[in-house]
Amino acid sequence: MSQVYGRVALIGLGLIASSMFWAIKRSGIAGEVTGYARTEATRDTARRIGLCDRVCDSAAEAAKGADLVVLCVPVGAMGVVAAEIAPVLRPGATLSDVGSVKRAVIDAVGPHVPQGVHFIPAHPLAGTEHSGPESGFSGLFDNRWCLLVPDEGTDAEAVERLRTFWEGLGANVDTMEADHHDLVLAVTSHAPHLIAYTMVGVADDLGRVTDSEVIKYSAAGFRDFTRIAASDPTMWRDVFLTNKDATLEILGRFTEELFALQRAIRTGDGAHLHDYFTRTREIRRGIIEAGQDTDAPDFGRVVRDAEPDKA
Ligand code: NAP
Repeated sequence: MSQVYGRVALIGLGLIASSMFWAIKRSGIAGEVTGYARTEATRDTARRIGLCDRVCDSAAEAAKGADLVVLCVPVGAMGVVAAEIAPVLRPGATLSDVGSVKRAVIDAVGPHVPQGVHFIPAHPLAGTEHSGPESGFSGLFDNRWCLLVPDEGTDAEAVERLRTFWEGLGANVDTMEADHHDLVLAVTSHAPHLIAYTMVGVADDLGRVTDSEVIKYSAAGFRDFTRIAASDPTMWRDVFLTNKDATLEILGRFTEELFALQRAIRTGDGAHLHDYFTRTREIRRGIIEAGQDTDAPDFGRVVRDAEPDKA
């Protein structure tokens, strides 16, 4: 694959940046990759595992002279990091990010972008519940969507280059307007995470009462909630603080639906419950048909019952 950027700088070296690095190396879509993380511990880990061709001791040093700089830090830290690297960005370079919320990142980063630098926010819709420099893998973005959120006046050629870059990392690429992105993600990701956090919290309270039976006999539904609720606390705190309106809008609708189902249970309205679950089952089928998940039972987990320690 031919290179679309000579040098890429990754600022923040967690799950997303490390996956980007391994995917860049797998594809050869870019030349040298520099990296920076806030703590010495993360920079040391990155050096030890060969994450980035060069790990720098400041964000500015990593970003200096890069053709593409990608901010891979929590949403709440984007503005501070952008201010730090702005003076070293070269004219013609592209500045992007991978933040899960787009309007807040545009508001925080936009004012720092120097004249002549192409600012193209982005969001790869791929992740796991793991975080940190050792959690990344080259296939994370394969067949996942990456949404680019360019402003109307953004240089079309710069947008096309970024699109080619993400396609090289394995992603399907689309463009979207920032506020629409935030609403869509509130439905598909942010509100579901909050619900999972809540359910695990409720079960934990109950677990104390029932001497941890909730954990011991944890079934598929609850286990899946615990996986989602194990996601990085800093990242998710920032998502909710910065995508406040859209998340609250969706949670309001969620609460109304929950009350309706609660009433159906109370009044014994089986038809309502059956119709509702039939509709939601169709959505699952649609996701599988779109290639965004497999239809393997239990989310494709290996059956563990046969393992000796579980006997
Ligand atoms: P992560 O694994 O927790 O890594 C975050 C990185 O950012 C670490 O290298 C950390 O450095 C650095 N960092 C944290 N706070 C910082 C600060 N105040 N200033 C400078 N650097 C800081 O996170 P991630 O999962 O890769 O997420 C990164 C971004 O991608 C977030 O904006 C998130 O919303 C977005 N995103 C995440 C997912 C997902 O599922 N995880 C999916 C799509 C998009 P230290 O290790 O040195 O503290």
